[in-house]
Amino acid sequence: MARSFDGNKLVIASHNKGKVREIGELLEPFGVETISAGALGLDEPVEDGLTFIANAEIKALAAAKASGLPALADDSGLEVAALGGEPGIYSARWAGPTKDFNIAMKDVVEKMGDAADRSANFTCALTLAWPDGHMESFEGKVFGTVTWPMRGEKGFGYDPIFVPTGFETTFAEMEPAAKHAMSHRAHAFKQLIDACFKTN
Ligand code: IMP
Repeated sequence: MARSFDGNKLVIASHNKGKVREIGELLEPFGVETISAGALGLDEPVEDGLTFIANAEIKALAAAKASGLPALADDSGLEVAALGGEPGIYSARWAGPTKDFNIAMKDVVEKMGDAADRSANFTCALTLAWPDGHMESFEGKVFGTVTWPMRGEKGFGYDPIFVPTGFETTFAEMEPAAKHAMSHRAHAFKQLIDACFKTN
């Protein structure tokens, strides 16, 4: 059985403002106070894992040990079928040192060329780690297609080129609540909440 989170303060082990905001919104109903690793001035560990879960565990454990509080990390990315799953765990790195996702999105579409298969998915791994080293990890996915040109101003990262299956709008054109209801992060979150959070 998974270990329950029974505190009221949680570190979000991320320096990515888009993710910190989304995770804060998803945790709001549970009355958990969140503080980001960035706000605590924690160092960003080297993400040298070879899977989303391995990288989420590296980040969550580093933040839990450094802060003395339970910490939640998200490692996520876009996997494009025609690119053999790239950019995948390297999704953030494709945006380069300036973290310019316009460059990364253009790169994805250029590399896809005229490939007939436009399918892609986002994957999100979530790890909740405690300062004693215990960890619980979960993974969620959302499937869709890559579109071009980019559309929409909401969301973050690759949202302007991702259209989830069954919809015509990109994630960046949707209201945050609509994205939260179906995203890879929402699917991973549901598993985390069911396993580790009391909902009453
Ligand atoms: P990391 O998990 O911090 O290594 O970075 C994951 C990267 O994947 C982010 O910087 C985004 O570019 C991308 N990504 C993850 N989740 C989403 C999402 O919900 N929408 C758009 N891009 C995302």
